[in-house]
Amino acid sequence: MRISEFFYSLQGEGFLAGVPSVFIRLAGCPLRCKWCDTAYAWDFQSGTELSAESLLSRAVEFPTRHLVVTGGEPLVQENLAVFLKVFAQAGYRITVETAGLCFVPDLPVFLLSISPKLSNSVNPGNPIPESERLNFDTLSALLQTYPYQLKFVVDTPQDLDEIADCVQRLGSVDPERICLMPQAVRREDYIKKSLWLAEYCLQTGFAFSPRLQVMLYNGQKGK
Ligand code: SF4
Repeated sequence: MRISEFFYSLQGEGFLAGVPSVFIRLAGCPLRCKWCDTAYAWDFQSGTELSAESLLSRAVEFPTRHLVVTGGEPLVQENLAVFLKVFAQAGYRITVETAGLCFVPDLPVFLLSISPKLSNSVNPGNPIPESERLNFDTLSALLQTYPYQLKFVVDTPQDLDEIADCVQRLGSVDPERICLMPQAVRREDYIKKSLWLAEYCLQTGFAFSPRLQVMLYNGQKGK
């Protein structure tokens, strides 16, 4: 597997925010979102080829059994299930973070963190058809198969109607598993957007997701 980064930090986002976790960032993402904070992981040939076993031997040095596999886009990697099983058999609780671009069976995940990419993500330099960025059949299959959270990245208040439409089109989503997260890579932006987004979360009952990596480390790589 091509590995862009391996590090130990707090999970910054979603319902497991604050949990000390080992992170494995896989290289390669076809979406290239315009506000992506890990553009260095877009190229499928970037990073280093490493085995799950060699990464496991490094992971066990840290005082956690939570593993976050992120990207890039993990679900487009070949042999992802085989890779994850090495960690699952060693007792890790695995979160896979994905945009939900394709369905992959048999993933031994504790949590599938699905972040469907809204129109605010579209990169004019890499236009992707909406049906590939936001495929409702694929997203529904993932929701029905795995323990999930649905995490939407919110850039402006105009995104909120699109989120409501997405949730409606997905049909049977548990509203308690939805969280909304401000789009920001710098602390100042994060605080500004959090203020109005928090109000919206209170009105709708959706959870607010922090971005601890922005708040604590101001977007430093490897944190
Ligand atoms: S899906 Fe994630 S990793 Fe890929 S470009 Fe978008 S934000 Fe970056």
